[in-house]
Amino acid sequence: MQRIYFDNAATTPLIPEVVEVMTQTLSENFGNPSSIHFYGRNAKAAVEEARRNIAKMFNCSIGDIFFTSSATESNNLIIHGAIKDLGVKRIITSPTEHPCVLKAIEQCDAEVEVVFLKVDQQGKIKLEELAAQLESETKTLVSLMYVNNELGTTIPISEISNLCQEKGALFHSDTVQAIGKLPLDLDALPINFISASAHKFHGPKGIGFVFINGNNQITPAMLGGAQERNMRAGTENIAGIVGMAKALELAFAELETRKKYILEIREHFLKEIKKLIPDLRVNGDLETGIHHILNLSFPESNFSDLMMFNLDINGVCASAGSACSSGISKDSSVLEAIGHDPKRKAIRFSFSHLNTKQEVDLAIERIASFINK
Ligand code: PLP
Repeated sequence: MQRIYFDNAATTPLIPEVVEVMTQTLSENFGNPSSIHFYGRNAKAAVEEARRNIAKMFNCSIGDIFFTSSATESNNLIIHGAIKDLGVKRIITSPTEHPCVLKAIEQCDAEVEVVFLKVDQQGKIKLEELAAQLESETKTLVSLMYVNNELGTTIPISEISNLCQEKGALFHSDTVQAIGKLPLDLDALPINFISASAHKFHGPKGIGFVFINGNNQITPAMLGGAQERNMRAGTENIAGIVGMAKALELAFAELETRKKYILEIREHFLKEIKKLIPDLRVNGDLETGIHHILNLSFPESNFSDLMMFNLDINGVCASAGSACSSGISKDSSVLEAIGHDPKRKAIRFSFSHLNTKQEVDLAIERIASFINK
């Protein structure tokens, strides 16, 4: 059976050019970058070239990019570091952040005051509410994701960066779902911290980076080595770093063409699936949201409960917006925060430039076959 992968917000397949540079690095560049001999220097050169290329793409200093194992690690590092080293006593965030941000904040809620901004039915915060919350004298960290991973909803990142700068607050954005899809100029944007994960833009798993604006020195979470200029101990994942830089280079080179293509794929899918299910709703805002995510709310019906199961056995890979515990299906915290009707079934379809119109047509054909049974 031809499988159709519409779960690109969860992870993306590696692209051949990335596999090629990684394979070459794994087989030829095996040295430890901390060694001073030939092999060590070669490995170090590969890591630093990747850092230089990444910094160039984001228009930031080389010294502001630190490699980590994942965005989860990056986000934890920033939140804990801001509290531990930068005097943060208050965090403003939203209930629709990724669990790695929410859990890191929760772990520190005895040390800091935590303010959750309200979100509307599309998952959007109100700038006025943020501005009002920023009137406080207390040293504040604002942590708001650029693109929501379940809904695709975006924040006005420039306005928020400027507002935070004006009010003297630090600003962290989990940019995982935006990296490689939206341009990001870190010189023009007064932002303090961002996080990235390579496997979301056709790079490898287990590698990411954190941008820490030079004025904000935080101490490492991982100790025992001088790697990453003492910020993160541990021998570098050289093939991962090289693969991530390659994946980003391709994503930036093809940013607009991929976006246009993915939008066409998404529009075609939405148009066709609406013909099958008239009372279909979109969670989030397609106008201002990211192009690769489509979160659909299916009406309560005899097929909706088994929707994920039926998609899977029919070879269509998507993601449920709910977790099943003790046999009871419950909406995710993001869906709860936007007031999604739990009787309906939310499913996230997320696309990449590797998907085709033929896959959309096939998926629609298969969905039609099981909903009409
Ligand atoms: N933040 C967002 C918005 C994500 O979508 C994800 C991945 O699901 C993460 C953080 C965690 O990234 P990683 O898989 O690199 O830990």
